[in-house]
Amino acid sequence: MPPLNRPLTPCDYVVFGGTGDLAMRKLLPSLFQRDRGEQLPPEDRIIGVSRQAMSDDRYVAMAEEGMRRHMKPDEFDPAVWDRFSGRLHHAAIDATGESGWPELAETLGAAPDRVRMFYLATAPDLFGPICERLQAAGLVTEQSRVVLEKPIGHDLYSARCINERVGAVFSEHQIFRIDHYVGKETVQNLMALRFANVLFQPLWNSTSIDHVQITVAETIGVESRGGYYDHSGALRDMVQNHLLQLLCLVAMEPPLHLDKDSVRDEKLKVLRALKPIGRDQVPACTVRGQYRAGAVDGAAVRGYLEESGIAPDSGTETFVALRVDVQNWRWTGVPFYLRTGKRLQQKVSEIVIQFKPVPYSIFPPTSGELAANRLVLRLQPDEAVRLHLMAKEPGPGGMRLREVPLNLSFAETFKHPVSDAYVRLLGDVVRGDPTLFMRRDEVEAAWVWTESILEAWQTRGEPPKPYIAGTWGPSTAIAMIERDGRTWHEDVGGGQ
Ligand code: NAP
Repeated sequence: MPPLNRPLTPCDYVVFGGTGDLAMRKLLPSLFQRDRGEQLPPEDRIIGVSRQAMSDDRYVAMAEEGMRRHMKPDEFDPAVWDRFSGRLHHAAIDATGESGWPELAETLGAAPDRVRMFYLATAPDLFGPICERLQAAGLVTEQSRVVLEKPIGHDLYSARCINERVGAVFSEHQIFRIDHYVGKETVQNLMALRFANVLFQPLWNSTSIDHVQITVAETIGVESRGGYYDHSGALRDMVQNHLLQLLCLVAMEPPLHLDKDSVRDEKLKVLRALKPIGRDQVPACTVRGQYRAGAVDGAAVRGYLEESGIAPDSGTETFVALRVDVQNWRWTGVPFYLRTGKRLQQKVSEIVIQFKPVPYSIFPPTSGELAANRLVLRLQPDEAVRLHLMAKEPGPGGMRLREVPLNLSFAETFKHPVSDAYVRLLGDVVRGDPTLFMRRDEVEAAWVWTESILEAWQTRGEPPKPYIAGTWGPSTAIAMIERDGRTWHEDVGGGQ
């Protein structure tokens, strides 16, 4: 287990959507991991809320089955399970109804000093109703926090409505809008690399950096989320939150301190500096794609239009590539290329900082071509940071140069497994530290910029470009970056 595990403050975790996929896949396993690290005080309780009535025993059995499905066998420690399962309870409440709330209040009791976490792992249209009913039932104390899962709305208007309704019940310091990408170790390491080392500081600007690429590629299709996804699409589902958050962390100025307002103020400045992509910029700066039948990892897969829950004539994009310009002193002239999609060739999330080439080569042509330096931050599948440098090949044969990665693999270097981002973020919520969570103005600024693209797409009315499942998206995405004389970083997965 990782060292330095301090016990968390005693807390009641109330998970709305406690029987859902997110609870089983991430939330309960993350709390289990905290328990395994001896960080959950004995009196901590976890109350799963859903409409379906069930006994605590039934919920425990459901949690065991669900958690075993999503956890590695060596993570599911039976001795810890004996303790953990005793913390689990179930409350049958329809978030839009009136029954069940008094019983929840009775279970939680009057405990004004005890931390209470209301985790809303439900559809976003339930966020307002849940908060209002929590308040009406007298459940919101000074020590309460509410966690909002993505997506925060469907557009700027709905995001504002949610923020208004939640904000009428909870103060901003009690609201934790989660984006688990920000909690990933590699993303934390981006901050460490930038602000705990002098090396990159003078290079982190348009003088030395040619461009930045941010890729979040999935091999899965829409799975069981067709109904939701077809009303959302890749821009809303991935870019508005995850990719923009990563962009902000790359582009932001050094915050004054590592605290909630300093960091979030700097991210907000970046969001406000994003150049809007309007109708006229759409052809040069955006690509929308939709997958067709193909093969992923050797297995034949259906096209998007054949997936369940998808309208047969759907124009929703499952892939998007963007050229984004950050208009400020540091970044003008440095494009940020973003791309994300489903049914792509490989599951990978990474940030590539591409430096400029050396201004002049002293080496003869026989030394080989000089590749410009590259810093690659891999978020998944294996979190790692690699700095690609030119080095001399050892041995005789003259000055033969080759690109080699300086490799920082967290698992190998720190000799313990990398925890899931939810483990860290749940701990931050208990501690009341929202530094890694999105503030209201950030979410809304991200929507303002995203809406400019959505509106431009809508007025142009062009259908998404088809791409074969198992490829890297439509060929227009390659053309988009090649027009600028650059290429997508695609030595992914090769340890490079
Ligand atoms: P899910 O598997 O469909 O689960 C939904 C949960 O909400 C179930 O426990 C359901 O139980 C409960 N529920 C639905 N309507 C309710 C109501 N009116 N009152 C009380 N409980 C209600 O969904 P999910 O995949 O866990 O996702 C939940 C939310 O998190 C979604 O907004 C999703 O976009 C977001 N999210 C999910 C993931 C993920 O990996 N799954 C990742 C990021 C964000 P009953 O039907 O019994 O009420």
